[in-house]
Amino acid sequence: MPDLSTMPKAELHLHLEGSFRWSTLQEAMLRHHGKGLPATPSWYHSGHRFHEFGEFLRLFQDYVDPWLSTPTGYREILRDVVEGLWLQNVRYAEINFSLGLVERIGHPLERVLEWLQSEAELAHQQGLEIRFFAGINRHRGSEQALKWTQQVCQASIVTGIDLHGNEVGWPASLFETAFQFAQEHGKRVKVHAGEMVGPQAIRDAVGLNITQIGHGTSASQDPELMERLRDRQVLLELCPTSNERLLNIPSYKAHPIFALDQAGIPVTLNSDDSAFFGINLTQEMHRLMAERQASISDLKRWTTHAFKKAAIDSATRQAFLLELEAWTPSDQQMIAAGPS
Ligand SMILES: [Zn+2]
Repeated sequence: MPDLSTMPKAELHLHLEGSFRWSTLQEAMLRHHGKGLPATPSWYHSGHRFHEFGEFLRLFQDYVDPWLSTPTGYREILRDVVEGLWLQNVRYAEINFSLGLVERIGHPLERVLEWLQSEAELAHQQGLEIRFFAGINRHRGSEQALKWTQQVCQASIVTGIDLHGNEVGWPASLFETAFQFAQEHGKRVKVHAGEMVGPQAIRDAVGLNITQIGHGTSASQDPELMERLRDRQVLLELCPTSNERLLNIPSYKAHPIFALDQAGIPVTLNSDDSAFFGINLTQEMHRLMAERQASISDLKRWTTHAFKKAAIDSATRQAFLLELEAWTPSDQQMIAAGPS
């Protein structure tokens, strides 16, 4: 396997509260709560599958809430996620932070936004551009979504909103008012769609002028929709291992990344929740090379799509694209198990 650690990367789909490194959580749980955790959690096993979405969500309650609830926890997670990206030479990242979780933990939103701001400034000094998206939980309904959107739209550190959570019974069309409010206030809007349900969910989102979709995996079931995504250049943030572990696809080999890519739809590669799927972006790239015969030029093309969509000025975009174009892999490297 080529060494991909130095490849300039972009990641558009990761959740702050699910993207820390396990070793950092181990240390934090011991320091804050005197609780020891295993060196490797059972769900890092390659054969592990989450048979229901609730089982996955419970990991956040069991492992993230106790950390976030401490006075320094939020900043510790932020620092760790950003450092993990920096070590992979990620140059641009869009990080979703859950407003539902901020509320559940009880930190004032204003304080959380200040922490995000200071972390983004620190990352910028390290050569990493971070943009934050406020994660809106579908199951809280349209009124709460609008209320949250109105709150975060005043904050310059928030680049946009990202509708997430259980798709079943909560189509994007229910949240049109919140989307419009965000767009009218200069914010971007992203929607998780077609991850857990069929292509109609993606149609709904695209019908609302959404041009950046989280997952969008089930688009591959609908040739007409694929043409529409290609014609409108709707970007899909694909997360193959996440889809495999949550049983949203039959197997890793069945993930439609190549079919969507070959149809001319701009696709990107992402880790989603590396702390719970046991694989970061670099490792996902290695996995696609090993198990799906992805080439370096595939990885570069998908990264190019991300840089082109990034919320950055044109000079920074050009610099990232040139850096990526000039990069070539060097040494051989073994694939490590779990995010390092
Ligand atoms: Zn997600």
